[in-house]
Amino acid sequence: MQIWQKDITYLKKVGPQRSKALASEAGIRVYRDLLYYYPRKYVDRSQVSRVRDLVEDHYATLVGKITQVTVTKNKQGRGRLLASFSDGTGIIELNWFSGVSWLEKYIRKGEEIALFGKATRFNHRLQMSHPEIDYLHEEGRAQNTLQIVPFYPSTDKLSRVGLDSKGFRNVVFQLLEEVGELIEENLPPEVIRSERLISHKEALYNIHFPSSFAALQAARRRLKFEEFFFFQLLLAQKRGTQRARNRANPFPEIGHYFNTYFDKHIPFELTDAQKRVLKEIRRDLWLPVQMNRLIQGDVGSGKTMVAFMCMLMAKDNGFQSCLMAPTEILAEQHYKKMKQYADPLGLKVAMIVGGQRKKVRTAMLEMAASGEADITVGTHALIEDTVKFARLGLSVVDEQHKFGVEQRARLWQKAQPYPHNMVMTATPIPRTLAMTLYGDIDVSVIDELPPGRVPIKTAWRGESKRLEVFGFIRRELEKGKQAYVVYPLVEESEKLDYLAAIQGKEIMEKYFKNYRVGLVHGRMKAEDKEVEMQMFVQNKSHILVSTTVIEVGVDVPNATIMVIENAEKFGLSQLHQLRGRVGRNADQSYCILMSGKKVSKEGKARLQAMVESTDGFKIAEIDLKLRGPGDFLGTRQSGLPEFQLANIAEDQDILQAARDAAFQIYESDALFQKPEHRRMSLFFESYLKAYGRFTNMA
Ligand code: ADP
Ligand code: MG
Repeated sequence: MQIWQKDITYLKKVGPQRSKALASEAGIRVYRDLLYYYPRKYVDRSQVSRVRDLVEDHYATLVGKITQVTVTKNKQGRGRLLASFSDGTGIIELNWFSGVSWLEKYIRKGEEIALFGKATRFNHRLQMSHPEIDYLHEEGRAQNTLQIVPFYPSTDKLSRVGLDSKGFRNVVFQLLEEVGELIEENLPPEVIRSERLISHKEALYNIHFPSSFAALQAARRRLKFEEFFFFQLLLAQKRGTQRARNRANPFPEIGHYFNTYFDKHIPFELTDAQKRVLKEIRRDLWLPVQMNRLIQGDVGSGKTMVAFMCMLMAKDNGFQSCLMAPTEILAEQHYKKMKQYADPLGLKVAMIVGGQRKKVRTAMLEMAASGEADITVGTHALIEDTVKFARLGLSVVDEQHKFGVEQRARLWQKAQPYPHNMVMTATPIPRTLAMTLYGDIDVSVIDELPPGRVPIKTAWRGESKRLEVFGFIRRELEKGKQAYVVYPLVEESEKLDYLAAIQGKEIMEKYFKNYRVGLVHGRMKAEDKEVEMQMFVQNKSHILVSTTVIEVGVDVPNATIMVIENAEKFGLSQLHQLRGRVGRNADQSYCILMSGKKVSKEGKARLQAMVESTDGFKIAEIDLKLRGPGDFLGTRQSGLPEFQLANIAEDQDILQAARDAAFQIYESDALFQKPEHRRMSLFFESYLKAYGRFTNMA
């Protein structure tokens, strides 16, 4: 192991000057860093051609000897080196215009060489300029020709010290010559066997100098697996220690409240998905270990009812629950819902939000602290120190991505032991990403909408179709329906947003004379926004023009049309969220994506995805592929290590296999004491030093 920590300066062919450039340009400081510095592409130079068969303007690999060398100088004193090369089938001139004084020593007659270059015509004869050369008896093995040749990422600064792709080949080759034999296996034999992986050593040799493309493929798979595996092992370990540490009150009873509600009061039949998720939660709550579960479900999939029924489980075991939402509008909506559900059972609901009058706040705080409130709904005001609970047993967080880890953790600290923890999100995260990111949290998916919902019809229309679109909207308005018209946020300019929305309102007013058009935008005061929203909710306004402020929280079932202007400017998940504002009852709803003429390729792919699917998970998958994991998650949660080869969007099968393997090993041997896990454990220790900080959910 020690050898891999050796300073790269001491590798033959590196030295102080190159090592400085390696450190500053590529972060390569020790042997190990160079070993894991992978090529960015490969070119097949393994096919040997004959001089006789050379074709003009084609690249070729040749094997033969230099038969003659001539050095000339032109009038400016610039040197030129000409050499004749023969392979027995013909002779070709080789030509160098620079580096001649060095080449004079390097180019030697009579020794067997391989070369690679492009045949060009000069004075009616084929020749090659600046071919790459390997002396076959000297270097041990060809590096630049005669095989699949690796190309390394380099920079100007690196090239200046001779570390262009060719230079890298040389030092990596040197590294493998010197210490390659010492590369040890780091995965347990059982995993290698069941996954049919090649060895660690073979993989590293082949990622640098592949013996064939099939070998390269096998090397890539093995190394991707390894990247995922150790990260998953980290998550498995984290989950294990967390579960051991975070004790919680078990909820063994399913009693009076849950059963009465389920038998007598529930307003609809639960979907199979809701039932399944409730069972999953039930299994968690049974144990004296803190539940840490993410509930993913598309907009309208019925997460609130699931949360409420969990709160009944808490009540049946003598505990209070709280529900935290990201905005006041949303908190109030939840509060009303919870009261409506809880009323027939005689349960008490409190609400704690920022804009409350002091008297109301005091009363609400008292309800929570005395234990009178069975359910307390609120915004992040809930985490303030003044908020205390008598017996908090369950904390539910809606739209969890809007809160930071610390905020959620502070909520837990209001009870000892910690309350069970449930977070809900309508922004579906693709399974693979959830697995990578939340390996230490359990994930439930409500992948079914309540029955009777008519899938929203989505159309993508250009500017030339605007009148048709307006005609269509008019016919819907005539049926008594309402419409949203949304304008994109102009980055960093609230003023422009506001102008776009104002103009939009004027256009709509001109065209739809008999209807009232409302407007909400980011620059409005909260109260004014509320007034406009209420007008729309009560069907006193018929068209609501807005910037994206309506994204979260409005529920107006009578609105069946969502028009999105400049739809190409929106992200895919945002488009999907906006579309979720309609389709809220049994009537047919429509989403119309308006776009300008100039739409980027990616923009087109997004709009196309919207037209083709209403499934939030499918859309999230596409979004992940289009944007890549970093962007997809945004800055807030980019708590992912950088995988070098593996890609969570494209290598889902490998990720799944690696996760299964890692979790299985952790379960069978959590302390890695079995002899067959020793090498893995050693490697994991150094991995932890590098990546241990990548820990996501609290
Ligand atoms: P979300 O998952 O977006 O939070 P909600 O919990 O707000 O969804 O549910 C959306 C609507 O569907 C609500 O009006 C709710 O009452 C209703 N709903 C939830 N579950 C069912 C069900 N199983 N059958 C019929 N309607 C349901
Ligand atoms: Mg909801």
